[in-house]
Parts: sequence; structure tokens; C-alpha cells
Amino acid sequence: MPTAVAGPEIERLIQLLARLPGLGPRSARRAALHLIKKRDLLMAPLAAALQSAMEKIAICRICGNLDTQNPCAVCSDPRRDPSIIIVVADVADLWALERAHAVDARYHVLGGTLSPLDGVGPEDLSIEALITRAHAPEVKEVILALNATVDGQTTAHYITDLLAGAGVKATGLAHGVPVGGELDYLDEGTLTAAIRSRTPF
Ligand code: ZN
Repeated sequence: MPTAVAGPEIERLIQLLARLPGLGPRSARRAALHLIKKRDLLMAPLAAALQSAMEKIAICRICGNLDTQNPCAVCSDPRRDPSIIIVVADVADLWALERAHAVDARYHVLGGTLSPLDGVGPEDLSIEALITRAHAPEVKEVILALNATVDGQTTAHYITDLLAGAGVKATGLAHGVPVGGELDYLDEGTLTAAIRSRTPF
């Protein structure tokens, strides 16, 4: 059992930081020390930002995104194409697609993927709300931007079946060679998927 090198307040800060994704105990210790050294420049503004985010963060009542406004900034943006809904498993996926500026559409966050092994069924996800949204006359396409895993693809197929009567086109993400990728480094599954979904040149 290692002995504590700092008072309880600092040890508590390190313990909490260590729970963040990507930070182990060592990086948490380093981050805590950095915050303490920069307490005026960084620690105080961070504490204030955490406090105000805590007070204002809400789950968007339309799409399930997390934001400080409800409906979220994406749903409130009138320049978005209302004919496309991009379905994602998690808010992190929504934010990743937004960072890529890939498409100016609306989103729908499922809150996970179907996983019988983990006991996640359709009623645990925001699927019913998605189907209702997809029936709106302005919606023409639903893009299932789910992980290329068994659970992700099972979920995509399940939703595609439910969308049958909605009069929308259901599409999925392409699988294949990543941009800048070298064939020699790809796994067999990715290479096979890339060959199968080849496109005219
Ligand atoms: Zn929203």
C-alpha cells in the first residue's frame, strides 16, 4: 500500500482525475500537479466551468445529444438538412462526426447498441423515438452510423426492419480502407469488406 504524498484534498483530486478515460493513476497525479501549479490560470477557470456545466447540461429532448441548451445546438440550427437523420450509438460518436464536418444533418443518439449478452434490449435504447422521427414527412434518409461490430451491425439491421414502413432510405457507413491507410497494415476483415464494397473508379 503506497503512502499518500499529499493531503486528503489533493489525494481526492488525484483519485477523481484517475477515473477519467485515458488517465491512469500516474497521469492523474501529473494532471493534478499541473492544475495545482496553474491554479489561477487553469484550476479556478476549470472549477467554474465544471460548476456551470453541471448546472446547465441537459439531454436534448429531440435527439439525445448532451448540451447546455434544450433542444441542443444541432437541433436548433435552422441551416441543417432536415431530410437526413444520422443514427449514432453514443454522444461521443455524434461529436466525432461533427468534428469531421462530414454532413450538415440532424442526429439521433440511441444510448448504446443492442447486446443480448449484456442484457441490452430495444426498450433500453431510444429506438421508438427514432422511428417516430423517421415518419416525419421531411425525413428522406436515415444513416445508421454505428460501429462495425456484431452489436453495431445487429442494431443497424434491427432498425432498418422497423423503418420499412416509414418511407425513408436506410443507409449504413462504408467499410474499407481508411483514408491514408496502407493495404499491407490492414486486417483481413477490413480488406475483405473493402473488396466487397468496391466502387467504380
Ligand atoms: Zn438535439
